[in-house]
Amino acid sequence: MTKIILIGPPGAGKGTQAEMMTKELQIPCISTGQILRTEITEKSNLGLASQEFIDKGELVPDELILKIVHRRIKQPDCEKGYILDGFPRTIHQAQEVAALHLDVNAVIYINVLDEVILERLSGRWIHLPSGRVYHEKFNPPKEHCKDNETGEALSQRQDDKRESIIKRLKSFREDTAPVIDYYKRKSDFSDTKFVEINGDQALDTVFSEIKSFIKSI
Ligand code: AMP
Repeated sequence: MTKIILIGPPGAGKGTQAEMMTKELQIPCISTGQILRTEITEKSNLGLASQEFIDKGELVPDELILKIVHRRIKQPDCEKGYILDGFPRTIHQAQEVAALHLDVNAVIYINVLDEVILERLSGRWIHLPSGRVYHEKFNPPKEHCKDNETGEALSQRQDDKRESIIKRLKSFREDTAPVIDYYKRKSDFSDTKFVEINGDQALDTVFSEIKSFIKSI
């Protein structure tokens, strides 16, 4: 069973790499952010409870997130493993992963500088139903503002506004940086492998570095 955690600041390219990894490894990607966006579109209780936090660029409370993850990993498509994108994002969430014995094989940290992130996120477009991500300059859709697979309209995320981006980056450096240290240390005394990859490179270069790391685990 292959369980991989993808971690990195907003706009590091986690979503795009996760999509490529899903195809390569034939295991699903569990993106807590994408699940929340779907819940918001469907106006479910969970969606309504999380929307305010997301729009402000703040983290959604741990208990809601943990509920989502518990529910999702029990689905039959997770039997052979999964990629966790955007979870765990706090030390409490990471401790919960350990408490549940969801032993992860590998943690991939995609790192990008803040100034690059600001440029990237302002040009980002998303196909809401699937979570497919595009960028005006770096990864444009075949047809302007249309999803490559369905031809449906793309939209910009509410929380990709500058002030939300700055808050999300701050939350990443404050809440999520300790999670990275936690896994880096864990890799010294357990079977969980850790790698840091420079996300400020071409998509394919980042992906081939991820692939060669995965081969080594
Ligand atoms: P993402 O798509 O990963 O950038 O997530 C979008 C937003 O969803 C984040 O800014 C948070 O508000 C919320 N979110 C997603 N995953 C988590 C998580 N693991 N813990 C807390 N909030 C989360």
